[in-house]
Amino acid sequence: MIPLIRGVRDIFPPDSDLWRHIKNEAENLFQDFGFSEILIPIMEKTELFKRSIGEQTDIVEKEMYTFADRDGESATLRPEATASIARAYISHKMYAEDPIRKFYTIGPMFRRERPQKGRYRQFYQIDAEIFGQSSPYADARLIIMLKTLMDRLQIKGTTLHINSLGCFKCRPDFNNSFKNFLIKISDNLCQNCQKRANTNPLRVLDCKNKFCAEVTKNAPKISEFLCQECKEHFETVCETLKDTNIEFQINSRLVRGLDYYTKTAFEIQTDALGAQNAIAGGGRYDGLVKLLGGPDTPAVGFAIGFDRLAEIIASNNINYAQKPEIFIAALGKKCIKEAFLWMSALNTAGIKTETEFSEKSLKSLMRRAGKIGASNVIIIGDQELEKKEALFRDMNTKEQIEIKFDNPVKNIMEILSKKINRKKG
Ligand code: AMP
Repeated sequence: MIPLIRGVRDIFPPDSDLWRHIKNEAENLFQDFGFSEILIPIMEKTELFKRSIGEQTDIVEKEMYTFADRDGESATLRPEATASIARAYISHKMYAEDPIRKFYTIGPMFRRERPQKGRYRQFYQIDAEIFGQSSPYADARLIIMLKTLMDRLQIKGTTLHINSLGCFKCRPDFNNSFKNFLIKISDNLCQNCQKRANTNPLRVLDCKNKFCAEVTKNAPKISEFLCQECKEHFETVCETLKDTNIEFQINSRLVRGLDYYTKTAFEIQTDALGAQNAIAGGGRYDGLVKLLGGPDTPAVGFAIGFDRLAEIIASNNINYAQKPEIFIAALGKKCIKEAFLWMSALNTAGIKTETEFSEKSLKSLMRRAGKIGASNVIIIGDQELEKKEALFRDMNTKEQIEIKFDNPVKNIMEILSKKINRKKG
C-alpha cells in the first residue's frame, strides 16, 4: 500500500455527505446575497502570492509549495484564494464592465504547516469576496453573511473578533511607534519577531509564541493611530453589526497573517477545536487590486476553514447521507432484468433507487435493503412477473400494496407522493 503524503487526507462517506451539506448551505446562502461562483486555478505564478500575501509572512517564507515547472518558470500551489480572484478580476478587466463584483469559490489550498488536528497541508476553504465597494456596509454585509452561515450550520460557541488595521496613510504612524516599542523589548522576542520588528512589525502581533504575546501586552494599540476616515469606517461597521444583533468583540491584537489587509479585519474563533481555534477570517484589502496592476479598487472578503467547520459539525453525529427511497428485491435472472429496467427508469425520473444484480434469497435481499437504509422495498419474483404486479413494502409501517407493471414510474411516484402527503397531514 502506498501511504498518503503527510498532511493530506481523503474525505469519504459519511464525512463527504456532511461536506456536501455544508457546500449546499453555503452556495444557497451566497447566491441569495448575490454572489456568483468563480473557479480559479490550483496553481499560479509564484510571484502572485509573493507580491500579494507579502514576502515577510509565514505563508511566503515557509509554507508555500513552490516548484520549477519544466520550462523553469516558478509555480506555486495556491495557499489561499483572494490573490487569484483579484488576479482574475484584473486579467479579465472585469472592472470595465462593472467594477462591483461579488464572488465565491470553494476548494483546496496548500500550505506546508506542521500537521495536527484541524491543520492540514491540503485543506479546503470557502471563500467570498466583494470588489468595488468601499463602504463599511460592504464589510458588515459580508460579516452578516458569514454569521448567517454559521447559524444555518448550527455552529455554536463562536466569537467574532474584529479590529481595524488602518490604511496606508495612518498605519505607518502606528508601525513607527510600535517599532520603537519593539526595539526596547527586542531581547525578549523570539528570533523571528526580532527580525520582523524591523521589516514587518505588525506580524509580531500574530506570533504564536506566548512570551512574545506577553511582552507586547502593553504595546501601543493601532486603534489610537487610526485616521478620521478609518475611525469612521470602523465605527460604522461596529454600529451596523450591533443594529443587526451580531455579537462581536473588538480585539486590538487581531492582525491576520497576510499583508494585504487594510481597515477592517475579523476572525471567527471557536472553543470547540483546541489549538486551531480560528474557523474563518477576513477583512478589507483596498490596496491589493492596484498592487497587482489593476485600477484602484476597494475590496473585502473572507475565507472559512472548511475542514474545521466540518469537524465541529461532525461532533453532532447527524447523518447527512441520502438514503435510497426504493430498493428493488428481484428473485432470479428474469426478475433481475426487470428490476434493472425499473431502477434505471426511476433513477432517470429522480428517485433514488437501488437493486442487486446477482441472484440472492429474499432474506439476504431484505438484509441488503436494511443495510443501505432504503425506505421502501419492491419485490419482484416469478409470481409477480407472471401476474405483472409487484409488491411494494413500506419498511417503516410494513404496509404492503400491489403495483401494476404498466408505467411503474408513474405508479411508484403516486404512492410516494401519497406517503409524503400523509406525513404532512
Ligand atoms: P487564512 O487564509 O489564513 O486567513 O485562513 C482562513 C481560515 O482557513 C482559517 O481561519 C482556518 O479555519 C483555515 N485554515 C488556514 N490554514 C489551515 C490549515 N493549514 N488547515 C486547516 N485549515 C486552515
